[in-house]
Amino acid sequence: VRAELTPTIAVHGGAGTLASDDPASPPGAGAPRLAGVRRAAEEALALLVRGGSALDAVELAVRILEDDPTYNAGTGAVLNEAGSVELDASIMDGATLRCGAVACVTDVRNPVVLARQVLERSPHVLLAGAGASAFARSVGIAPVANGDLVTAAQRARWLAARAPSGHGTVGAVARDRDGHLAAATSTGGTAGKLAGRIGDSPLVGCGTYADDALAAVSCTGHGERIIQLTLARHAADLVGGGLSPDDAARTAAERLAARVAGEGGLIVVGPRGVAGFAHNTPVMSRAWSDERGAIQAAL
Ligand code: ASP
Repeated sequence: VRAELTPTIAVHGGAGTLASDDPASPPGAGAPRLAGVRRAAEEALALLVRGGSALDAVELAVRILEDDPTYNAGTGAVLNEAGSVELDASIMDGATLRCGAVACVTDVRNPVVLARQVLERSPHVLLAGAGASAFARSVGIAPVANGDLVTAAQRARWLAARAPSGHGTVGAVARDRDGHLAAATSTGGTAGKLAGRIGDSPLVGCGTYADDALAAVSCTGHGERIIQLTLARHAADLVGGGLSPDDAARTAAERLAARVAGEGGLIVVGPRGVAGFAHNTPVMSRAWSDERGAIQAAL
């Protein structure tokens, strides 16, 4: 029988700025952002301590953050140029490499839950748009009106036609007591995006990746740039090649800036349960469990 390992959770609430001219990020916005990632990390860690799987833990953490209007995922997501919410999410199991993802979903409160259903109950990896909605209904996920996902702050921001600085994507990576890894990411995308635009978050290898033999990774930032570097898989490979999760995250964030002038960040957990982070933006809200099992949080 294999000895039980100390579980690890790390979550992020998006890389970006907390600019005072951004109605989605008013002065003091750091406090709710920190509280939200801390709560998600605490609940997911409790699940892991009870013996829950890394896959269940990342789904739970991301679901909590989707329901928190502070973040650009689920309720409170940014609006596209047409003024509606289109959601992207993905989840991956590092033990089996099974993965599920949804893109351009308009009528589901928790896209990460739908992504998990794609993983569990479909022969596919990525479902988009109307087909994703139909699949949601077929697995018993109730529809939600698009307007119910729109917060007053995001509506105000859209009416003011602000520059797309909309951050607040959410993600989680975990190692469970059996040593298995998992990762999940969920987003409303970039503010003012074209209808139909899909970013890195639902693309396996770009916004999300997990392989027990490498690492679990969740990215945030400028999706088009992250896709160009298949950043999540790149960071996981760096851990597989011997870098610490912190060094891998830092190297990946530096390459994102240097190679494609991309802004963003990522969280990484390696097979030994060590978490690492990096961002090349002013802030990236995040929370993680330390070696003693205490939750730390930082902007
Ligand atoms: N990566 C997300 C996207 O491009 C946005 C973000 O992380 O802020 O859709």
